[in-house]
Amino acid sequence: MAPKKRCQFIGEQQCNQAALRIVGQCAHCSSNFCANHRLPEHHACHKMEDCKQQAFNRNKAKLESERTVASKIVTA
Ligand SMILES: [Zn+2]
Ligand SMILES: [Zn+2]
Repeated sequence: MAPKKRCQFIGEQQCNQAALRIVGQCAHCSSNFCANHRLPEHHACHKMEDCKQQAFNRNKAKLESERTVASKIVTA
């Protein structure tokens, strides 16, 4: 039998709770966490920053393309 996985949250000290199976695995960083730490916000997920950055870039590109269209209309 596979040994029980521990929550991989490390804050002030390593969390010693058993990690949840399947739902305890973070979709972003694929680490395993207990019920308290499984949400990206709750384990300070380092991949969340990437997601935020990606969303930011997408939004920026969208705004820029809209601005380009708007300026074309103005100058036409
Ligand atoms: Zn934990
Ligand atoms: Zn994570």
